[in-house]
Formats: sequence, C-alpha cells, structure tokens
Amino acid sequence: MLTLFPELFDAFKKWSIVGRTIEKGLFSFNTINIRDFSKDKHKRVDDYPFGGGPGMIMRTEPIYDAILDTKTEDSIVIYLSPQGKTYNQKLANSLSKEKHIILLCGHYEGIDNRIVDNFVDLEISIGDYVLTGGEIPAMVVIESIIRLLPGALGSEESYVDESHYNGLLEYPQYTRPRVFMSLNVPEVLLSGDHKKIDEWRKYESLKTTYIKRPDLLDKINLTDMEIKMLKRIKEEMKDKN
Ligand code: SAM
Repeated sequence: MLTLFPELFDAFKKWSIVGRTIEKGLFSFNTINIRDFSKDKHKRVDDYPFGGGPGMIMRTEPIYDAILDTKTEDSIVIYLSPQGKTYNQKLANSLSKEKHIILLCGHYEGIDNRIVDNFVDLEISIGDYVLTGGEIPAMVVIESIIRLLPGALGSEESYVDESHYNGLLEYPQYTRPRVFMSLNVPEVLLSGDHKKIDEWRKYESLKTTYIKRPDLLDKINLTDMEIKMLKRIKEEMKDKN
C-alpha cells in the first residue's frame, strides 16, 4: 500500500476478518509512506499543476521510487482512481488470485499522469463519485479480496451464497425470534426440509435480483430450472400489480 496516510490503516489491520486473516498468516500488507521517498528537504510530495488550475498534484519521483522499492516480479500495480474500472465482485475474484498487489493511493488533485500511463497496470474506481484520497477505496479492495481467500471465513459457504458471488443477489435471511410484532419468518425455513429450503432460497435469490437489480440477470447464464423459476416470478409479480 503506497499512501501519504499510513496511520489510517492501523485500526483496519486489526479489525475483524482483516485482523484474523493477517494473524493466521493467510494475508499480509505493508503500508509504505510515499513521503519517505521525497528528496525535498521539507518532504514535500506535491506541486502546482502545469497549465494552472486549482489544487496540487502528487509528483512523479517519490511515487516512482516507492513503486520501485516495493515491486517484485509478481507485482501488479493498481492506482485507486475515480477514472478507473468500476470495482465489482468479478474483479475482486480475479485479484484474490494475485500474489502481490501494490495499491497506490492518490491525494490532492491526484497524481502526475506519467505515473498512470507508464507504471500502473490497472486503475480501479469504487464508484462514480470523488473522494479525498485512495485510502478508503484501497480498504474496500483489500477487504473484498480477503473475504475470498481460502480459510479467511468460517467456511466457504459463507461467501458462495452471498450477493454477487454467482451473479445474483442473496435470498432474504431471518433469525430469532420467529415472530416479531406479528411478523412471521417464512414457514419453509422452519420446516427442516433442506431440499425445500434450497429451492426456496434459489427462487427468492432470483426474485430479489429481479426486483432490485434486474440488470444483473442479463449478465449471467441461467440454468433451465432458473429460467423456469424466473418465468414464475414474473407471473407472480404481474398478478400482484
Ligand atoms: N482530480 C481527480 C479527478 O478528477 O479524476 C480526483 C482526485 S481525488 C480528489 C484524490 C484521490 O482520491 C485520487 O487520486 C484517488 O486516489 C482517490 N479517489 C477519489 N475518488 C475515488 C474513487 N471513486 N475510486 C477510487 N479512488 C478514488
């Protein structure tokens, strides 16, 4: 992690699954302060933009030196940027297979574009909005990758059913009490019939996706059974309206 604010990661490193995964030795990450690579006597890392305009730009030299110092032959250099590829579960899955990732966090008005053009392999955005720095986006990327590492969660089941893993949103979940303010949990979940529960969950997963994110259904290949279920869902919804 190349950043001007390594202290932001102190609590994050110890937090929940991130902390446990690091403790178990399944994952590690170092925070490198880009400022340590500044040759300026005041340790400055930014300068005015050529051509004028507001704000400051992070200079090439300290970033280049920080990358050089960190890079191995297995490294992929990722710049967190609002101009990058929009982050999603598919990208998280593919990054979870990388051996060494260097996450470059920008600040101010961003970084000198010669770094982006020549020393960055991939730009990632966590959404179409602008944040002050790349640190929170970097945490998003790290956490999403960690969850996918074998042994990081209690069991593999914990993420394979989750939203986006197989292209669908997760089915609705309930816990005790069985009745809350006269609101019951679906009867099938109390039946103990696991075949029925699995079927119900598949149906509800498709239904939730159809209602909340129909765009996702265009991006996946449904099985024959799922296509039939989706037809039923559409009829059910039509009847309701
Ligand atoms: N001037 C830049 C632009 O308009 O594209 C935005 C710079 S932003 C204020 C400062 C830094 O925050 C960026 O260099 C980047 O590292 C990070 N950042 C901001 N929004 C982001 C986003 N949506 N996804 C990932 N990183 C982001």
